Amino acid sequence: MPENEVVILRIGHRPERDQRVTTHVGLTARALGAKGMYLAASDKGVVESIADVVNRWGGDFFCEDNVKWRSCIREWKQDGGSVVHLTMYGLNLPDSIEEARTREKILVVVGAEKVPGEIYGLADFNVAVTSQPHSEISSLALFLDHLYAGKEMTREFPGARIRIVPSKLGKRTEEL
Ligand code: SAM
Repeated sequence: MPENEVVILRIGHRPERDQRVTTHVGLTARALGAKGMYLAASDKGVVESIADVVNRWGGDFFCEDNVKWRSCIREWKQDGGSVVHLTMYGLNLPDSIEEARTREKILVVVGAEKVPGEIYGLADFNVAVTSQPHSEISSLALFLDHLYAGKEMTREFPGARIRIVPSKLGKRTEEL
């Protein structure tokens, strides 16, 4: 079981163009061991898509929209949590992951469009997954995989209604 409690804070979401990417941020977070995602925008489409996956595939991942990012960060810190902002301008992942592993509760902030400058100062760590531009989905996936050192691959999802029977060839699923 993953040890660090991770919740994602997705900022800068534009419902007219980011719905698919934000849904994939949530699904990636869920699959790789995070507990939930706060969305700093109003988008019931994202919330419903993720709830539908949780309903079929199990676990208790949550997705909450209409979150105010400043108060979310403030309250997270008041509860003793740490804030990691994923940005190509941060310290490279291999140089920051050991310290991140020491934090019990981590709020991982990922952007869409240009991130407000204030976030860089509010974060406890600005972490880069290479110093090259790419995507919030790939940077989140690599951050979680490094944080959990691969243990998230064998995570169980209690309450699933369907599961995959892994096979080298073909597609096998089982209704539970
Ligand atoms: N142009 C935007 C800016 O300057 O803030 C970033 C847009 S990028 C498509 C969206 C998000 O992907 C970023 O906010 C960041 O969270 C993440 N991201 C992109 N490249 C990254 C990298 N090399 N390391 C960590 N996160 C990255």
